Amino acid sequence: MSKENVYTLIEEQLKDVFSLFGDEISDGTKKILAKPQKEIIVNFPVKLSNGQVEMFKGYRIQHNNLFGPYKGGLRFYKNIYLDECNALASWMTHKNTLQDLPLGGGKGGLKIDVTKYSDEDLEKISRNFAKALANHVGENVDIPAPDMGSNSQIMDWMNDEHKKVTHSSQNGHYTGKSIILGGSEGRTEATGYGVCQSVKEWAKVNNFDLKGKTFIMQGFGNVGSYAAKFLEENGMKMIAVGDHTGYFSGNINLNELMEYAQKNRGIKGFENLHELSKEDFFKTKCDIVVPAAMELQISEEIAQNLDCKLVVEGANGPTYFAADKVLEKRGIDVIPDILANSGGVVVSYFEWLQNKYSEYWVKEYVIKKLEDKMAQTFKKIHKLKNEKNITYRQACYYYTLKKIDAGYMMKGNIY
Ligand code: NAD
Repeated sequence: MSKENVYTLIEEQLKDVFSLFGDEISDGTKKILAKPQKEIIVNFPVKLSNGQVEMFKGYRIQHNNLFGPYKGGLRFYKNIYLDECNALASWMTHKNTLQDLPLGGGKGGLKIDVTKYSDEDLEKISRNFAKALANHVGENVDIPAPDMGSNSQIMDWMNDEHKKVTHSSQNGHYTGKSIILGGSEGRTEATGYGVCQSVKEWAKVNNFDLKGKTFIMQGFGNVGSYAAKFLEENGMKMIAVGDHTGYFSGNINLNELMEYAQKNRGIKGFENLHELSKEDFFKTKCDIVVPAAMELQISEEIAQNLDCKLVVEGANGPTYFAADKVLEKRGIDVIPDILANSGGVVVSYFEWLQNKYSEYWVKEYVIKKLEDKMAQTFKKIHKLKNEKNITYRQACYYYTLKKIDAGYMMKGNIY
């Protein structure tokens, strides 16, 4: 598979499920899911604070809206490309269907290196991006959220600009906003919390006591740092961690590392850590490996060398298809991205509901609802996995494909 094109990964994953259950899914549904409904590309100018005009390129892919408005993040990333957004948008269709949300799948992003711009310029750029997208998004059409490189501040700017441009008094056009501007309690940590919940559910069905067990974490941003925090709160210990600045092992004080990484935009330089190569990081003997950085990180060779019982995909698409097959052969369970990291979109959905009804829930209530949803979905997939004797990933896709197919088989959905 070409390292550059992550879209191939979802094609291979679906082909794998079709090779097992293809006769249960109609050809029409297979064809529909193979293409996004809309690929929106915008190029827009921004006059920066140095007086120069710069052009920016943004993407929004609306993959499928059979079950409701498109929903998915906006990545702010210097190397973003169209097929990456296509892959991520398709995964959102499956993720939202897996969680039985009344939402379709979308994803997008802005080609930008955020570290190169001041806050003042970032606000201008985000607002202009929202303006460029205004005809295509909105609370009943397509609801973006934060992803890699974006955050609640950016969602606040974009939601505000969208309201201005469209003369809207509604607040749920973007989710992942700051709480004071209509965000949901618990949204910031929701993806990491969901990652930890899936580990807890897996541990329950495997009679595996998490106390005293170890994990390694690739990626220490929003998803990775919160997943690590919650896993440690459940008695586990992080023994190695990596991000774009390097890979390290040692006796890590998690709270201090979280503060340090935020302040320094990375983990490099944190005291008393031993630097590792990426290869050695992934060879670390541990109980759980959590890739929570980006796609295409676990190659076939890395999969051969992992020394763990479970891989939990905090990131989207971190495992190459060939690597997935190696893990299956080696008997290492993988909780796939569309299940493991779905806590983020579940709480985004809660935010959207709260905005619609101008009703605000306390954190305990949000977390309890998130826990229930993650547990319910994990149980249904675990049951399917055992009934069909397949992997968690295959069981997730089997469920979503059957559900989407049933939707399309309703008279009138395909003309
Ligand atoms: P983030 O920008 O907060 O953090 C990304 C982390 O990955 C950082 O620690 C960064 O240093 C690290 N990283 C970047 N490039 C790397 C590289 N080449 N090698 C090693 N580490 C690298 O992003 P995030 O929101 O935590 O997202 C991480 C992953 O989780 C992405 O795949 C994203 O799509 C997925 N995800 C995020 C959410 C969410 O709610 N934020 C929800 C679902 C899935």
